[in-house]
Amino acid sequence: MLAKRVKNISESITIAISTLAKELKAKGEDVLIFSAGEPDFDTPKAIKDAVIQALEEKCKCSKYTPIPGTNDILEAIAYKLKKDNNLEYKTSQILTNVGAKHSLFNLFQVLLEEDDEVIIPAPYWVSYTEIVKFCGAKPVIINTDEKNGFKLNANDLKKAITNKTKLIIFNMPSNPTGAVYSKDEIASLGEVLKDTNIIVASDEIYEKLTYEGDFTSVASVSEDLFKRTITINGLSKCGAMPGWRFGYMASANEEIIKACKKLQSQSTSNISSLVQIGAIPALMGKTDEDIKFMKNEFQKRRDLVYALFQDVENLSLVKPNGAFYAFVNCKKIDEDSMRFCKKLLNEAKVAVVPGIGFGMDGYFRFSFATDEKSIIEGIKRISNFVKNYQI
Ligand code: PMP
Ligand code: GLU
Repeated sequence: MLAKRVKNISESITIAISTLAKELKAKGEDVLIFSAGEPDFDTPKAIKDAVIQALEEKCKCSKYTPIPGTNDILEAIAYKLKKDNNLEYKTSQILTNVGAKHSLFNLFQVLLEEDDEVIIPAPYWVSYTEIVKFCGAKPVIINTDEKNGFKLNANDLKKAITNKTKLIIFNMPSNPTGAVYSKDEIASLGEVLKDTNIIVASDEIYEKLTYEGDFTSVASVSEDLFKRTITINGLSKCGAMPGWRFGYMASANEEIIKACKKLQSQSTSNISSLVQIGAIPALMGKTDEDIKFMKNEFQKRRDLVYALFQDVENLSLVKPNGAFYAFVNCKKIDEDSMRFCKKLLNEAKVAVVPGIGFGMDGYFRFSFATDEKSIIEGIKRISNFVKNYQI
């Protein structure tokens, strides 16, 4: 009964595990959840106030808005991209979406055809491969190495390119490894793309959660990268508003944005008018103090997680330089990350995500978007669990 294209993809494992863990917790089980990819902070007050005010003003939010978003939101995004990323986009080159996942979904739908190849460095965020497959295209995975901080290098990129390569996905800071690329590293990858028609999708959703070095937007590195890159961002992570569903894409190539607008006009139409109103203060810098606070807290937790795992026998990790995840190597305990994570949940009541979901077995992802007390207790449980582990 179901279409082949939907049979070919799997459900988001990050969401599936977090839902299961939340259900177990609701039933009264003492589960500690480190699988969630969402900040545990409340949405900043300036965002809530903007929406409350709009609700009280008659008609401000009851009508459809233009598909890409109101002029106010598009200008706010253009302002943000200029101020934070040194990227100059016209409002006609920007489109708001129902979260960054929706930006990627729209983009891949309008770009990819059967047999197109999409280069995805692994470990990768779980949805990239599935959306690519849904479009009938082929994910081409390049494994990165823990020894190089899970970063893609120019040689490996060069080797993966064929005449079918249509797109490459960059994600920095990375989910699940926290890897952050320097400007020079981006430039050397950009050099490889120079004489090709390959399009770059740059997923910058964890931008403001960069702990080491400066964050560099891919499109800002060279004129060539600016022309070939679609910058994708949103406020789910750095605005602490994942449930609001706000994302956007920007591209110097207006044809791509126009195609995405057309597709969106036949699917979601505009994103919620209220969400657009709420996002404006965040994009205009009115929540910078809240973001600074959140980032400092995440950085403290990152240091805590890194320090605590040093004392756990047979597990190791690369210090994450951004985002709020630790990608922990559990190969000495069990190469089968799914089995490891299932047993960890059933026996120690700790929810983490198996590395296999991110295209790399032998690891698990531990999200530190959770309070310190739970982190300390959770890593204690993991430590005891691995001591007595039997396959
Ligand atoms: N990209 C990455 C790397 C993510 O971790 C997420 C989290 N879901 C997204 C995109 C999508 O974010 P959202 O749809 O909530 O804006
Ligand atoms: N990005 C988050 C994660 O990786 C949220 C869940 C999802 O959309 O996959 O856990």
